[in-house]
Amino acid sequence: MRLRFAPSPTGQLHVGNARTALFNWLMARGAGGTLILRIEDTDFARSTKSAESTAIDDLRWLGLNWDEGADGGGRHGPYRQSERLHIYRAHAVELMSRGQAYHCFCAEEQLEMDRYQALRAGRPPKYIGRCRNIPRDDARRRIENGEPAVIRFRVADEARDITFNDIVRSEVSFNSEVIGDFVLVRSDGVPAYNFAVVIDDALMEITHVIRGEDHISNTPRQLLLYEALGWKPPLFAHVSMVLGPDHSKLSKRHGATSVSEFRERGYLPEALANYLALLGWSPGEGEELLPLDELARRFRIEDVGKSAGVFDPEKLAWVNRHYLKAAAPDRLARLAVPFLEQHGWVSQPTDAGLEFLAQAVPVAAASLDRLDQVPARLHFLFDYAAARALEDPAVRGEADASRNVIAALAGELASSGPLNDRETFRAVAARVREKTGAKGRALFHPIRLALTGEPEGVELDLAVPLIEKGARLAGGGVRSILGAAERASAFLYELEKSGR
Ligand code: GLU
Repeated sequence: MRLRFAPSPTGQLHVGNARTALFNWLMARGAGGTLILRIEDTDFARSTKSAESTAIDDLRWLGLNWDEGADGGGRHGPYRQSERLHIYRAHAVELMSRGQAYHCFCAEEQLEMDRYQALRAGRPPKYIGRCRNIPRDDARRRIENGEPAVIRFRVADEARDITFNDIVRSEVSFNSEVIGDFVLVRSDGVPAYNFAVVIDDALMEITHVIRGEDHISNTPRQLLLYEALGWKPPLFAHVSMVLGPDHSKLSKRHGATSVSEFRERGYLPEALANYLALLGWSPGEGEELLPLDELARRFRIEDVGKSAGVFDPEKLAWVNRHYLKAAAPDRLARLAVPFLEQHGWVSQPTDAGLEFLAQAVPVAAASLDRLDQVPARLHFLFDYAAARALEDPAVRGEADASRNVIAALAGELASSGPLNDRETFRAVAARVREKTGAKGRALFHPIRLALTGEPEGVELDLAVPLIEKGARLAGGGVRSILGAAERASAFLYELEKSGR
């Protein structure tokens, strides 16, 4: 079994294409087949090297590897269509020598006029065949004279049905009548998609083509080419498009659409890959959250539904939460660094810095959908400022009403040691309760305001030890963090200053 993923490097890797790549990967890995990466970069005007390397990075990031193809993956390759132009040309010449293809000299304006007239007369707008019967010698002379020409495939005159058994969509049939003589090679010598894809799939001995259903109407043309070249076509599986929640094709209007954007928002690769696998397919037995190798073991392309996959951001968030909870603390710390760096809170953290972050980030991530939300959740740690906190009327009102608790807290902390764990923090809170009589929310809310500067957030039992550990870190590529005792007295000072 040999499969391929064939991205066109003309922009960001869309999640729909990533899902197609994933389905190919799941099928190849599940069956012990070979997966090929082929870069379809013959659209010279739109293809870029940077889009190619982004696509490769995105696939690697998702955990999808390949055995042959671009960028030295595996022993063979790279496979880049731009480096195979001589191969397509040779096959075009072969088809011409057999009369199955011919040079066409029609000017673009002429073709446009033909199309317009066909549409007006209610006929399918296909090539009318003006150059079909130019004698070969005439054509050769015109080419030698430098007249620009494309190479067209000669579709047989008699109408017939071109039928294939699509793995996802069952029997699909097109009438050849609607297919005009189509272009194989453009006048600049570059092959058209339908031609290059057939030559490549055949020479690379692809057995299964899994691709988006936007290519389904290309398939009859490709089948005609297989026939003309005397090659056996692969099996086809056209998977549905990925739609936005409003059932139109997933696009910018819906928010993030490319793999890079999801990465930048702090989705974990295993979460995005797992979620994409569930879009149009189910591993069964009510289980959804499974690692890629297990998904590959269960994957059957026959089980992919033909109805469109509707992208559900809520479900993706749910899947990501699951993987954020399961992720190793030091990995989460490393992944969160770029987000914290954006705020200037962290800069090239040392091992000690990372060790601290490996305690802080999981505490934040436990209640988050994505890593880009980590800074807001850890704001209390890195950006505490009593005066600024008290500018919030709600904070100020509540703090005013519970000055006695805050004063008692400041007093206790001035004499207690660092609050390294939940128990020590609880003991201090208990003494504040004894002194003031405040309990429950009346006790803990003012403590939260004074120590975090925020009315809500991470559980205090976890937040306070983090503050204390951060305060002792001093350096490590992490911005200096104020300890609990300093926070309580600064808060009390600001409260009294402004109350006077
Ligand atoms: N380069 C094509 C695309 O990105 C691939 C089509 C195919 O898989 O045949 O849509």
